[in-house]
Amino acid sequence: MKGTVYKSTGSWYLVKAEDGKTYNCRIKGKFRIKGIKNTNPVAVGDKVSFDTEGQQGEEQQGVIKKIDERENYIIRKSVNLSKQTHIIASNIDQVFLMVTLNNPPTFTSFIDRFLVTAEAYDIKAVILFNKIDTYNEEETLEIKFLAKLYREVGYECIGISAKTGKNVDKVREMMLDKTSMFSGHSGTGKSTLINALEPDLNLKTAEISEQHRQGQHTTTFAEMFDLSFNARIIDTPGIKGFGVVDMEKEEIGDYFPEFFELKQDCKFHNCLHLEEPKCAVKEALEEGEIAWSRYKSYLQIMEGEDENYRIDNYSN
Ligand code: GDP
Ligand code: ZN
Repeated sequence: MKGTVYKSTGSWYLVKAEDGKTYNCRIKGKFRIKGIKNTNPVAVGDKVSFDTEGQQGEEQQGVIKKIDERENYIIRKSVNLSKQTHIIASNIDQVFLMVTLNNPPTFTSFIDRFLVTAEAYDIKAVILFNKIDTYNEEETLEIKFLAKLYREVGYECIGISAKTGKNVDKVREMMLDKTSMFSGHSGTGKSTLINALEPDLNLKTAEISEQHRQGQHTTTFAEMFDLSFNARIIDTPGIKGFGVVDMEKEEIGDYFPEFFELKQDCKFHNCLHLEEPKCAVKEALEEGEIAWSRYKSYLQIMEGEDENYRIDNYSN
């Protein structure tokens, strides 16, 4: 049978088959990914083939035999030196980045870093400017400015209010038939939006952050949920962000779509758009065709890991 992994508890996997039934599955055999040392062989979102194995009590059981090639996957690296990688989730159609101007502020450096990671993971990113019910004229102009900037780069942007429901239907429409994730700083309104989309879905987010507050260490697993309108959400409690992808300096520019487009016009085919002569990216920058904030983020990422980003990205 074929199915999709909705939940993993380390050794057991909840698989939803094409007929809608769920099976509690184990794995048999080795599942490895070339080039990485992953701690979990099967991840939430994986499309698998499995054999059914009868029933234990109410539960139908199965054995996973094969994992289809993943279209994409997001990872978390262990903090120690073992360099082990945990696959958080796979086959993600899109990630919505929740952005607010203030309460809390979301800086363009954070947005750009996030978008670069999404590009590196090969996951479509959509920017949701939330809390538009709270902005004054000046702030509204700033949101419009940012939305224009990111649309021109190629990212869809929607101004929404999770609280009043404004444009929530647009988000719902974009989610149809897809597997989505929500990301963004704590307090930007992710839970409020998910609640507006599906009132009865109680994601773990609240529960986990409560445990965090009490200082308990919790191992958290991603989980997939079906929504009532034919959409799926992958919830990653305690992993608010997207992880950090290791990138070579040469490839970072490729994850800025507007830079990548110009690269072939740079004098040097391996141009890093720094001090090289006849760089098409720098020329476009001088002419105002590329936003300075984007180029500044590029330089920051080129310079190395930004600790603040890591903290924002991992903790709630
Ligand atoms: P999360 O940490 O991203 O899940 O954020 P929450 O959903 O918990 O929202 C944080 C706070 O912002 C809560 O007090 C929400 O009521 C509030 N909030 C969320 N969305 C909106 C919105 O669109 N407008 C306004 N005014 N407040 C919002
Ligand atoms: Zn260049």
